[in-house]
Amino acid sequence: METADTKRFPRVVIIGGGFGGIEVAKGLKNKEVEVLLLDRNNHHTFQPLLYQVATGTLDAPSIAFPLRKMFRKQPNFKFRMTEVKAIDDKRKVLDTDIGPISYDYLVIATGATTNFFGNQSVEQYAMPMKSVREAVNIRSFLLQNIEESLLKTSREDREAFLNIVVVGGGPTGVELSGAIAEIRNHILVKDYPELKKEDMTVYLVEGLPRVLNALSPQASEKAELYLRELGVRVLLNEQVTAYDGEAIHFANGRHIKTRTVLWSAGVKGEIPEGIDAQTIVRGNRIQTDETCRVLGMRDVFAIGDVSAIITEDTPRGHPGVAPVAQQQGRLLAKNIVHLLQHQPTEKFKYFDKGSMATIGRNKAVVDIGKIRFQGFFAWWVWMFVHLMSLVGFRNRVVTFINWVISYVTFNAGIRLIIHKYVRKTPREAAVAEEQIT
Ligand SMILES: Cc1cc2nc3c(=O)[nH]c(=O)nc-3n(C[C@H](O)[C@H](O)[C@H](O)COP(=O)(O)OP(=O)(O)OC[C@H]3O[C@@H](n4cnc5c(N)ncnc54)[C@H](O)[C@@H]3O)c2cc1C
Repeated sequence: METADTKRFPRVVIIGGGFGGIEVAKGLKNKEVEVLLLDRNNHHTFQPLLYQVATGTLDAPSIAFPLRKMFRKQPNFKFRMTEVKAIDDKRKVLDTDIGPISYDYLVIATGATTNFFGNQSVEQYAMPMKSVREAVNIRSFLLQNIEESLLKTSREDREAFLNIVVVGGGPTGVELSGAIAEIRNHILVKDYPELKKEDMTVYLVEGLPRVLNALSPQASEKAELYLRELGVRVLLNEQVTAYDGEAIHFANGRHIKTRTVLWSAGVKGEIPEGIDAQTIVRGNRIQTDETCRVLGMRDVFAIGDVSAIITEDTPRGHPGVAPVAQQQGRLLAKNIVHLLQHQPTEKFKYFDKGSMATIGRNKAVVDIGKIRFQGFFAWWVWMFVHLMSLVGFRNRVVTFINWVISYVTFNAGIRLIIHKYVRKTPREAAVAEEQIT
């Protein structure tokens, strides 16, 4: 690991090579600082398209990009693949799984992790989708369950294998349930001639009265209509109380038999130890001032999903979306240079470019300020924006080709079970035990 004797310039350590972290590192290119990026993965993940990996439209490498490759033309950049466990700001040292790492300036850009809101049964059996690995697990499990359903003789026995429940009606849940419904509508009977389309049911469960609550009412209404047209059963005002891996239970006493619950109902900031609890606000986010400096810390900054700038205009912080993280990352790089040059720093001002979500082929909803549109044109806009936002020329080309093939053939191609996803409920474990003994 780098030691103090190899240091010439102040060292800026960035934890997290996500949307925010990479912008800080890029912004410090050719500046008189040593940039050290740390991430537990060796790649950046384009999370907005994870659902397409989970549903077999894209392969995992199309939405990930190696961090070393991204910065190979930046001489002041170094990368270490490591998990940061704790921050010791008194000594300006990080505790990591590859040993201590010192910093002059620290940027916490660790993003968010899945929030199960303390429901342990859900956490144990529902599947989150925050990383490439989790998306690949979902793909495997969906396919494994369809395979397994064929071994059941009665429709009743098959039910739990072919009921797919997506919880959380935000953009992720809407996109994921729409994509699974398209598999049901266009692929199921082609790949599995023994099954009928009606054998599979896709549910989208939302606790609020409408899906896409952060978008305009028009967008919500249209998204719900599109989902219903695809055959998704949209359940609104439903609170999940428990899930035992075989049935999901709701506050109204209802339950659905299902082995597959995909959880996209919430996130919370992912914070290494060492941050004063008083600085941690709603959603487990670190409160910063308007220059992204962590409250009460001098040389420590936080950006993106893990952070919150609380003002009158933003009482809950900024939304947890990629443009916020990117814009904060760019500003912070500038501010670090200003600090080094003893110049005043700038405050963060979010430029909101709008929100969008797609719901299957030819259908999307877009809100850009007061401009709102839905349908085919919105879908093109959604595709263009996502394609252009992907990191890496190869990824853009591969994704574009995959989309064209999927569009023309109605047949997204990457339905592979590379690694079996193993998850046993207590009942299944007991049955397996019985079979051994
Ligand atoms: C499924 C899904 C779909 C989404 N769709 C959209 C969308 O359509 N549009 C949009 O704008 N936003 C979308 N978002 C939100 C968007 O991805 C986030 O707002 C954005 O990624 C936040 O960027 P970030 O830099 O704060 O964190 P991230 O991009 O999450 O990056 C955090 C990085 O930190 C690393 N890390 C975390 N903890 C540690 C640690 N202790 N040690 C080492 N490394 C660590 C992680 O490995 C990760 O690489 C989506 C998110 C998800 C999960």
